[in-house]
Amino acid sequence: MRVVTSISEMSCIKKSLDNDELSLGFVPTMGALHEGHLSLIKESLKVCDKTVVSIFVNPTQFNDQNDLEKYPRPLKNDQELLAQSGVDYLFLPTYEEMYKDDYRYKVCEVDFSKMLCGKDRPGHFDGVLTVVMKLFNIIKPNKAFFGQKDFQQLTLIKGMVSAFFMEIDIVGLPIKRDGNGLALSSRNSHLSETDQVFIAKVFSERLKGHLDTKEIKRLIQSDGVEVDYIEEHFGRRLGAVRYKNIRLIDNVETAGV
Ligand code: AMP
Repeated sequence: MRVVTSISEMSCIKKSLDNDELSLGFVPTMGALHEGHLSLIKESLKVCDKTVVSIFVNPTQFNDQNDLEKYPRPLKNDQELLAQSGVDYLFLPTYEEMYKDDYRYKVCEVDFSKMLCGKDRPGHFDGVLTVVMKLFNIIKPNKAFFGQKDFQQLTLIKGMVSAFFMEIDIVGLPIKRDGNGLALSSRNSHLSETDQVFIAKVFSERLKGHLDTKEIKRLIQSDGVEVDYIEEHFGRRLGAVRYKNIRLIDNVETAGV
């Protein structure tokens, strides 16, 4: 696996892949990799000739400085996992190169991005769309792989690609869960195993149940967990909760509920 830290080196790689007519798959991440990330990587390795994974903890999508500072960064372990999985390139850009403009220019969506997570995390999706646009313009992948775990993010990225006529195929893949049904997340590592089992029971399990959103919200709150939202959109029931200062999101298809 080749580790790439500069934008110019990444651009050279893309040019040489184009010359050899090789397709490039891209999996953007913020690291602290788990089976959810690996499922996206496996799909890219399967359907593309070459795969690049980026690890970049993007400051502009964090509206809470404390959340940014304590975000897990086990880079050595991530590098080992990626090398073992057969990834071709690991892109590790620096903040200075990514944000030469000091974030004076940004990509915004004015409607759906203000709802759900956008309501509780002002500016979050501006940061997400901006960094994904930058990464797409640097890497120029043929396909990019995202998890349905961040369903609102996936919807907004598909919308951005369509709005700006970007020739990238956006592939959305199912949520990976642990044995108790909790959606895997880098933030789960901030919770003890007992807490993870508890959240799986009071949040994930109820989300896929038959009760209406108001009732689900009431029950979760009655168990002492803060609820940011439980809402239904685009055939999905989506939720975000906070427990011991850790914010977790999840969603399920409502057709099956
Ligand atoms: P992150 O590192 O949290 O920015 O996530 C990078 C990518 O992995 C995003 O496309 C996420 O939606 C995806 N992802 C995160 N957790 C999961 C999961 N449990 N199952 C599937 N995909 C996931």
